[in-house]
Amino acid sequence: MIGKWPSDRKICYSKYMPHEDKQAQLDQIKAEIIEKKVCPDLAEQATNLVMGDGNSNADIVFIGEAPGKNEDLQGLPFVGAAGKFLNEMLASIGMERADIYITNIVKYRPPNNRDPLPEEKQAFWPYLVRQLKVIEPDIVVTLGRHSMEYFLPGAKISQIHGDPKRVRFGETPLVVVPLFHPAAALYNGSMRQTLLDDFSRIPKIIDLIQKDKKGT
Ligand code: URA
Repeated sequence: MIGKWPSDRKICYSKYMPHEDKQAQLDQIKAEIIEKKVCPDLAEQATNLVMGDGNSNADIVFIGEAPGKNEDLQGLPFVGAAGKFLNEMLASIGMERADIYITNIVKYRPPNNRDPLPEEKQAFWPYLVRQLKVIEPDIVVTLGRHSMEYFLPGAKISQIHGDPKRVRFGETPLVVVPLFHPAAALYNGSMRQTLLDDFSRIPKIIDLIQKDKKGT
């Protein structure tokens, strides 16, 4: 269903780092973004740097685009209308926010909710890579094309949404599940159903990866 691992598979599955140490490392990455003044123009207009939220030891990480107004005010990702729908979709597969980690590719709100610029995504990408190296998820769910394009370059979301792909992330194998952005479903009933259908595939993907890890 997910296809084969790329040939030079090298597994690094031990989640040996304690939870608190992972959170401390994520806090350190946040401090560096501020200290190194990443995207100063965005930072200047933002209320908060929105780093991420949830379980720093999660097996599954969701990655959106950039904070919106509510996220900027609260300093937390996906707390507005799109976040509410995301919570509903998680509940539909028996999960909640505490089971996952959630972040964005760009960590400051772009003015007037415009799309993040290529140079903004590029500037934040190394910090997202570091977040993932700390958390060590098995699955990354990209929400929308802005985060998808970094994991699956050249892919078209309309063609591959919901299809899990095995990729190599540095030394580590990762399964990427590209989904439409939940905001796209807010005013579009058929998109809402497409997202719910794609989401319903996630438990089976988690199961397959667990079996793969155990070698069964
Ligand atoms: N949309 C995003 O991509 N991220 C958020 O945090 C909120 C809305």
